[in-house]
Amino acid sequence: MAKSNIIIGGLVPFTTIDYPTKISAVLFLQGCPWRCIYCSNPHLLAYRKPTEQDKANYEYVLGLLKKRTKIIDAVVFSGGEATSQTDEIITAIEEIKEFAPHFKFGLHTNGCFPEKLAKLLPYIDWIGLDIKAPCKKYEQITKVKGSGEFAFEALDLILKSGKDFEVRTTADPTVLSKEDILEIAETVSKLGVKHYAVQRYRPVDKDNPNNPPAQAITQFFTDKEFEAKLRLLIPNLEMRF
Ligand code: SF4
Repeated sequence: MAKSNIIIGGLVPFTTIDYPTKISAVLFLQGCPWRCIYCSNPHLLAYRKPTEQDKANYEYVLGLLKKRTKIIDAVVFSGGEATSQTDEIITAIEEIKEFAPHFKFGLHTNGCFPEKLAKLLPYIDWIGLDIKAPCKKYEQITKVKGSGEFAFEALDLILKSGKDFEVRTTADPTVLSKEDILEIAETVSKLGVKHYAVQRYRPVDKDNPNNPPAQAITQFFTDKEFEAKLRLLIPNLEMRF
């Protein structure tokens, strides 16, 4: 009988892009306190109690991981906001390590719960942290006051932990300009960030006539001067178009 009460809202059983240099399975966990304007997982936002189906889902995932201990190298906890389920993740990691002691564990987080993150970090090998905007613009994206302060507090914790990590920003042209992204890169570079990724914005509803024009979305990836300026700030840069 599995011990963790983790609520898994989605699963990618096999991917090469969610944990650097590793083949991983990604578990998308239920619950997030933010309401980002570009959230592509609205079904994962609501908090709820675990059900019998959630237990069955977790048992299924454990069974899948057991069968693939020679194929995958890592399990990534994503969301929603994975740290919402910090205690459940820790129990799950302990259970998974019983049959796959060689697995690495990754975390995708928005940094909204620094205290929970601090508790979870010792169990995690690699972190992908969203820095969504310059601090002053955070609320425009997350719709939550003070969200930027939490994210930068999380970054500070991760830096102090000495763990491998990257910072990434979704280039939402409805809020962010190139100057904003340069400002993020400059700020995090000064703090000591070594890996930075700019990710393409993908409209939630592709057919919405109010979506920004394609050129506004691609501008961040077609401007080589902009990319060069970013690379000067953080040489280990990925432009994820
Ligand atoms: S932090 Fe992530 S999961 Fe939460 S609302 Fe924003 S995009 Fe969606």
